[in-house]
Amino acid sequence: MLTYEQARQKVIEQLTENKGPRATEQVRVGDALGFVLAEEMKTDREYPPFNRATRDGYAVIAADAKAGSTLKCTGEIKAGDRVTKELQVKTCVQIMTGAAVPSGADAVVMIEHTKRDGDQVRFERDAVAGQNFVPQGSEARTGQTILTPGTRLGYAELASAAQVGAAELKCASKPRVAILSTGDEIVPVDTIPGQFQIRNSNSVSLAAQVRLAGGTPVLLGNAMDREDDLASKIRRGLQEDLLVLSGGVSMGKYDLVEKVLMEIGAEFYFDAVAIRPGKPAVFGKCGEKFIFGLPGNPVSTMVTFELFVAPAVDLLSGTDARALPIIEARLGEALNEKPGVTHFLPAHMQGQGAAREVRVLKWQGSGDVSALSNANCFVIVPATLEKIGAGERVEVMVRRDLL
Ligand code: AMP
Ligand code: MG
Repeated sequence: MLTYEQARQKVIEQLTENKGPRATEQVRVGDALGFVLAEEMKTDREYPPFNRATRDGYAVIAADAKAGSTLKCTGEIKAGDRVTKELQVKTCVQIMTGAAVPSGADAVVMIEHTKRDGDQVRFERDAVAGQNFVPQGSEARTGQTILTPGTRLGYAELASAAQVGAAELKCASKPRVAILSTGDEIVPVDTIPGQFQIRNSNSVSLAAQVRLAGGTPVLLGNAMDREDDLASKIRRGLQEDLLVLSGGVSMGKYDLVEKVLMEIGAEFYFDAVAIRPGKPAVFGKCGEKFIFGLPGNPVSTMVTFELFVAPAVDLLSGTDARALPIIEARLGEALNEKPGVTHFLPAHMQGQGAAREVRVLKWQGSGDVSALSNANCFVIVPATLEKIGAGERVEVMVRRDLL
């Protein structure tokens, strides 16, 4: 059986091998958060476009502004002012942060290091050439590449695009991810379930996880545990970029997902992973399309999505798979888990740095949705360990939506 790292690697390998051309669309820069850029972005001019003062103070010729010297102030320049006049020797000009340093000047002296009396400015320290301004063109040259295709657009990348005037960006269209739950007991969220029925919470959490991963969820409802219903709904799902099923992949008599997928012609890369929860997770391909069959227990569904489906959505978006959000923390209370599989235990983490501490929550196993809504992370217990003492350092996978 594969470890979760090996299974994840399989997903990444398969999707990387099958990288094809992707549909693109024009997206307004203000709406492009989370999209993946599909074009190269270059600067339209030099940055900064003029010698930009970084302090409020006086523009000077450094050689004139020695400690104890006094210079006549001949005017002021504020951000946005057109600057045409050259600075004359033995004079200074008052200047504000963001304004253009006049030609002739080679330093800006902070106002805090001066004393003013009428139009006379006295300098308390030696000015140093090059001080307190950013030279024209030093951040970027004209036509320099600032963003490359495949870059995921976060707020900083969007600011870069906006700075060079890109009001619209060519982006990879978000992959459409079909979500199909399975189970005779599953009913829609907006109905009153019978005593032995269960509301379809997985389709809701999966859709949210698809969005977080950068995909567009396509909700296909629920298939009954019958081959005909499963087959027709799976066929519908295969029309999208990726198909994610929940439930029906365990050993029970009515766990028919794998059987039906096989009849439709799917091949499988794995159908079990050495983890708990989530062991029966399935990854395969049918025709051109990849398929995940995630176990139906809600916590298993959530964990296996994060481990295996999220990297697939990244790769289908035309960008590299993001690393899992794993950090270290000190364990608050000792743990004792069955070895042989890697455990992902819902937990709550608090504190910062060396004081960061994590406590595993009481839960009733992988069906316990309410336990997870108090969890902000999962403690990862390696397959080789049985006991971990209080105070030891453990790996923690943070919930991506709470990062
Ligand atoms: P399965 O993987 O089909 O054996 O289902 C395992 C458990 O998860 C059962 O208790 C199911 O009722 C529950 N379950 C399956 N699908 C869903 C779903 N879409 N929403 C909530 N719970 C589910
Ligand atoms: Mg089922």
